[in-house]
Amino acid sequence: MPLKNGNSYRESLKTLSLNVYAFGEKIENIVDSPLFSPHINAAALTYDLAHDPTTEDLVTVTSHLTGKKISRFTHIHQSTEDLVKKVKMLRMIANRTGSCFQRCVGFDAMNAVYSVTYEMDEKLGTEYHQRFQQYLEYIQENDLMVAGSMTDPKGDRALSPSKQADPDMFVHVIDTNEKGLVIRGAKAHQTGIINSHEMLIMPTIAMGPEDKAYAIACAIPTDSPGIIHIFGRQTNDERRITGGKIDQGNAEYGTVGGEALTVLENVFVPWERVFMHEEYEFAGMMVERFASYHRQNYGGCKTGVSDVIIGATVAMAEYSGVAKASHVKDKVIEMVHLAETLYGGSIACSAEGHPTASGAYYVDPLLANIVKQNVTRFIYEICRLAHDVAGGLIATLPSEKDMTHPEIGQYVTKYMKGVDFISSEHRIRMARLIENMTGGTALSESMHGAGSPQAQRVMIFRQANLKNKKRMAEKLAGITTTQGLKA
Ligand code: SF4
Repeated sequence: MPLKNGNSYRESLKTLSLNVYAFGEKIENIVDSPLFSPHINAAALTYDLAHDPTTEDLVTVTSHLTGKKISRFTHIHQSTEDLVKKVKMLRMIANRTGSCFQRCVGFDAMNAVYSVTYEMDEKLGTEYHQRFQQYLEYIQENDLMVAGSMTDPKGDRALSPSKQADPDMFVHVIDTNEKGLVIRGAKAHQTGIINSHEMLIMPTIAMGPEDKAYAIACAIPTDSPGIIHIFGRQTNDERRITGGKIDQGNAEYGTVGGEALTVLENVFVPWERVFMHEEYEFAGMMVERFASYHRQNYGGCKTGVSDVIIGATVAMAEYSGVAKASHVKDKVIEMVHLAETLYGGSIACSAEGHPTASGAYYVDPLLANIVKQNVTRFIYEICRLAHDVAGGLIATLPSEKDMTHPEIGQYVTKYMKGVDFISSEHRIRMARLIENMTGGTALSESMHGAGSPQAQRVMIFRQANLKNKKRMAEKLAGITTTQGLKA
């Protein structure tokens, strides 16, 4: 089957029987709903760019399974060059959307499941890897969008899955038969799931033997019986319905990815789509692999988004007549410095990647976690500087309806003017773009997307090889016998 383009992707979504709720209502047609169309446009662009001669080298690749041309979003990394190209692709696409295009979560999930199933089979004699390869071929052949479904609601964070008062706080298996198994629970913060064809479910934490019913990895279509998607609210989302295009800031591609709470109410999964069942000792490995791949991304897509924020900040400074002020220049330099530091980290963890036993390449997990940790701080600083330079206008602007009002519109355009050669409308558009990209949902996504800061710190401590660092210090200090605390 040929690679989809944006329109054939949209058409393919119309064939799904999705069970979606938003604002307390069931949504029958997500593709034509203004609430979802910006997110769908962002994902659709990943399909269109596969057909653009200027971007196809980054967005398409040869499948190691079939030798056919496929979307990179369905590819298993075969080299460090693949890992580097992934980061470059994400930056390039984010430059065009200024927003999340969602397709990387499933991409990372597929890479994590691929290598972990191989190692599971090697140790336990199971047959998961072969099953997963067949599933992957199906995804590549049909150029499907897969949602990577890891995060469970988790209930009381101090308790393991099997100790929760409500057993559904983590997705678990409630029944098995000769045809497959039945799962129950929910996955939270599901990026792009409303407009994905498939969801690839993984465990969300490392587990012990008492949690083995929760050690489940499997794939299901997003419209399987028993699935309910409840769409999350975003800052200023009503502007998509009641406001004009200017008020939305980024009407074409929206704000971050569009997340949902996906409820799994007794969902059947055939055995050929089960890739982990009770192998609790591999749950932690799957979590770490997926998390590191997704943290690798953040110096790609967030740098791409930051490029746009920096450009918007420079534009606002020019439109307001302050671009030549030395303090503004200095703030812009700082924004560039922070953004390129993120990018450098993502390129580094990719270049320092290595093959796993399956042959699939994995990033350097320490560097990948450092990148995401930096994102939780640097994006806030980049956005703070954008607010500083852009001014209070981004928080107090009159609405688009006021700007175009037959009586009072003249006052809005008169008093929102900056330098003479830029129209008020252009200044308002740029201020709205900054508002959209730097506040509310967009900002907190940088903190918690791909895992909260503490999750990275746990992995940084584990990967830091402090024992070796301590030995280096002892050698230089002339200490040959180690005493005291062990690292
Ligand atoms: Fe991809 Fe970035 Fe969105 Fe994650 S946050 S899905 S890496 S664009």
